Amino acid sequence: MYGMMSTQIAKSMNSILLDLWKLPIAALVEQIRDMMQNWFHNRRTIANRLRSDLTPTIDNHILKGVEPSYKCIIHPISYHKYNITENQNNSIVDIQAKTCGCRKWDREKLPCKHALAYARYVIKVYIHRFVIYHI
Ligand SMILES: [Zn+2]
Repeated sequence: MYGMMSTQIAKSMNSILLDLWKLPIAALVEQIRDMMQNWFHNRRTIANRLRSDLTPTIDNHILKGVEPSYKCIIHPISYHKYNITENQNNSIVDIQAKTCGCRKWDREKLPCKHALAYARYVIKVYIHRFVIYHI
């Protein structure tokens, strides 16, 4: 899932295990097993509450962008390009390249309000398809 990976697992384990190193080996292993079992249970519980395949942070970002997208007017240019106007500003959204004239989609790798306006325009499109995943 987007944004759910961490490289801090070794630091987390070391800081938690500092006091446990004094235990006999069987008790130490049991403490580690119990701790990891709780971690995985908590993560599964959080994952089961998610509304989509995205993390809550990204989901909220998209939800915040939907409201301003209602002020945008969509003018199709071609099958993949749309001119999105808001007030008197224009932004060209290229759906195939996943870019927008405002550059926000390019920089943040998350759909801007213009891209979300397009997604609402073609209501059958899932908004989550516009997130660019880092692999
Ligand atoms: Zn934009």
